[in-house]
Formats: sequence, C-alpha cells, structure tokens
Amino acid sequence: MALKKQGRSWLNPEGRMKKEKKEAKETGKLLELLDRHYPRTESFLVYEEPWQLLIATILSAQCTDNRVNEVTKILFARYGSPRELADAEREEVEKIIKPVGLYRAKANSIIGCAGRLCESFGGEVPDKIEDLTSLPGVGRKTANVVRSHVFSEPSVVVDTHVKRVSRRLGLTDTDDPVKAEFELMERLPKDHWSRINIQFMSLGREICRARSPRCDECFLAQYCDSCRAPRIEKTCH
Ligand code: SF4
Repeated sequence: MALKKQGRSWLNPEGRMKKEKKEAKETGKLLELLDRHYPRTESFLVYEEPWQLLIATILSAQCTDNRVNEVTKILFARYGSPRELADAEREEVEKIIKPVGLYRAKANSIIGCAGRLCESFGGEVPDKIEDLTSLPGVGRKTANVVRSHVFSEPSVVVDTHVKRVSRRLGLTDTDDPVKAEFELMERLPKDHWSRINIQFMSLGREICRARSPRCDECFLAQYCDSCRAPRIEKTCH
C-alpha cells in the first residue's frame, strides 16, 4: 500500500530513510486535503454538558448520530443531571432510548455510568483515561471522544469508519481498534489526532463507504492503494 510501513526490511538504512520521508510527505499531503475538505472539528452529537456527551457517546454504539440526537433531546429534558439519571426508573429509560437499539444493555450502561459518576467523581466527568474506562459502558473509544471534545486532550478516536478508512489508506495495518489507535498516534502528528475521527467519519459516510467506496469521487484517490478507480498518477513530490 502506498502509505504503509510494510516492506522496509530489505532496504538499507539510506533507502529506508528515503522511503520514510516520502511516506511522511504523502501523509502530510493527505492530512492537508482532509483539513481542506472537512474543516469541522465539533462532535456530531448534540450536548451542552460533559456528562451529556459521555451518555450520548455510549448510546451511539451501532447507531447513527442523528438518531442518538433525537433520543438524547428527550432523555436530557427528562433527566437534567447525572444524579437524576442514576435514580431513574430503568423501564422509563429503556422506553426513551429504544430507538437507538440495544436499549436494555444501553439503559444499564447509562444508569450505571451516571451512578458511578455521582459515587466516585462527585457528579463530574473525569479526564483521565483510566477513570473514564472504569465507568460502566465506557471503552477507549468513548473515553477518547470525551477527552478530545471536553478536555481538548489530543486523542485518536477509532470507530468503525476510522478503522476502515485508515486501513484502506494504509495508515494502519490492523482490524483491532486499540492497535489502530496506537498505530495512528504513531503515524499522525499529535495536533491532528483529535480531528482525524470527524474527518474519517465524514469521508467514510460520504465517499469511502463500507460496501461500495466511491473511489472515482475521492479526493484521496492518488494516495490510496485500495483505490478501485482507474489508476491516478501521483503528484506528491
Ligand atoms: S480511494 Fe477509495 S478506498 Fe481509498 S480512501 Fe478513497 S474511497 Fe476509500
């Protein structure tokens, strides 16, 4: 793949250095194009307070952001704080969040998460990844969303779009989201970590779709060896 770290072992140190420089230049160009096409940095999830982003992100697993936003509008109007959500009737919460799918498990997670926020963190959302991932229903992806958007901590959020698009582009070499997170952190400049999720999510929804990527319309085609469009000559020098 054009941007992959593979296939260097046979190169001598000078050759390897040249190859790495070329890859870095291509990655830089690719990030520039992403910034130009997708300047948005805010989350697609609607929230006013940090705990609301945390809950909305838990609800977003295997669901569209639009659907989550419709549900959280009702949920946050009904429960105005982590305490209120922690004390909620499970059946009522399940009824409200049913449209997001997996509603029984998600109701357990968000009620449990709100309860733990109150018991262990004074009702505030913690900023450390270990504290965040200790909350019910919170994995690295959700924790990184919160760290990135609430605390402005450079964080790579790997969701299904980021996993697929970064692999197709050759920026990662794995299907494991945690490994992909670390590969991307190694590969991308730190000041780009937090925006890569929104950018790859946008590209993944609009162009680099799971089943039928629209490579002939893709502005990254010349940097992508997974490109299915007729070969486009590279122009990065
Ligand atoms: S060229 Fe095709 S496979 Fe590569 S990023 Fe674009 S849409 Fe995805």
